[in-house]
Amino acid sequence: MRTKYLVGCDGGRSLIRKAAGIDFPGWDPTTSHLIAEVEIAKEPEWGIRHDAIGIHGLSRLEDGGPVRVMVTEQHVGSTSEPTLRDLREALIAVFGTDYGIHSPTSISRFTDMTRQAASYRKGRVLLAGDAAHVHYPVGGQGLNIGVQDAVNLGWKLAQVVKQTSPESLLDTYHAERHPVGARVLRNTMAQVALMRRPDDRVKALQDTMSELLDMDEPRKRFFAAMMSGLDVRYDLGEGHPLLGRRMPDLDLVTADGPLRVFTLLHGARPVLLDFGHPGRLDITPWADRVQLISAEYAGAWELPAIGVVAAPTAVLIRPDGYVAWVGDQTEFGLADALTTWFGPPAAA
Ligand SMILES: Cc1cc2nc3c(=O)[nH]c(=O)nc-3n(C[C@H](O)[C@H](O)[C@H](O)COP(=O)(O)OP(=O)(O)OC[C@H]3O[C@@H](n4cnc5c(N)ncnc54)[C@H](O)[C@@H]3O)c2cc1C
Repeated sequence: MRTKYLVGCDGGRSLIRKAAGIDFPGWDPTTSHLIAEVEIAKEPEWGIRHDAIGIHGLSRLEDGGPVRVMVTEQHVGSTSEPTLRDLREALIAVFGTDYGIHSPTSISRFTDMTRQAASYRKGRVLLAGDAAHVHYPVGGQGLNIGVQDAVNLGWKLAQVVKQTSPESLLDTYHAERHPVGARVLRNTMAQVALMRRPDDRVKALQDTMSELLDMDEPRKRFFAAMMSGLDVRYDLGEGHPLLGRRMPDLDLVTADGPLRVFTLLHGARPVLLDFGHPGRLDITPWADRVQLISAEYAGAWELPAIGVVAAPTAVLIRPDGYVAWVGDQTEFGLADALTTWFGPPAAA
């Protein structure tokens, strides 16, 4: 098979990453869990248990179905596929019984191994998702950042393949997404540290964090914004606080009626939203690639991580929903931003 570009979305053990010779530095696991869906002979101790080995849980959906088991293993480092016997032994070590588990529909192992590809691009090979970063699943962030990797890369790759943008556009993928992945690795490692068997010092740290999380501002503006990825800001230079941040999903009023901003992004094409007099911005040389929409918006411009910002007179939104240029009465910088992100102007 021959291909112009190859994107490795093949998970943490990525064959594509290994074959491309991309390093995957990081930290070995310090804790290991089995997670499974099984049938059970004896009524177990439902709910979550913390003990010297770690955290464990048994649950069943209200409407029945298999029992969901999560149990921390006594030892870290097993590389073989987990078996029913492994699960039984792990349960006995924690609960003193295996509750007569049988008929598993799934058994898998996960750890807090934390690693990140040294480069998200090597020539014509790119990595996205777990192929580019693995970490403990605390906070449910892995799928989210993996999808955001793909959304950041997809439109750039399409433009390079169509030759509307130079190949160098692909370098912005690593530049933008690698720091986001590194931050998630850091916050998951911090959370693993907080979950360790609480000696007095860990307990003091847990209590301090609990106090912080009781406060609205740190909880919403820092922790929630970080864990949801809503605080991501790509470094697109100095300027209005919206620059490089995710465009809020505003309720606009247009000549065709009310419209949500994100509806405009469904076609994965860039959008220039103009809140000034219709017709004042001329993007004819990019009209084949960029939608120009005249709109009104009277409400507040509020972003999850930074709060209310000054209303711009225009915004250029990339297909991944991030703001590439912010207008303040003038067109200053617009042509440069259009060229940087969506290729040179078409010949007249
Ligand atoms: C217990 C647990 C709970 C989690 N909970 C959450 C959560 O709540 N929220 C969240 O955002 N994330 C969560 N995650 C993380 C999330 O599951 C992963 O980040 C996400 O699945 C990664 O997606 P991916 O497509 O990059 O990789 P994968 O899901 O690993 O998909 C890779 C795919 O590539 C295929 N593949 C691999 N090699 C080859 C090959 N050689 N040829 C062909 N196909 C191949 C695989 O079969 C697989 O289908 C959790 C993870 C765990 C372990």
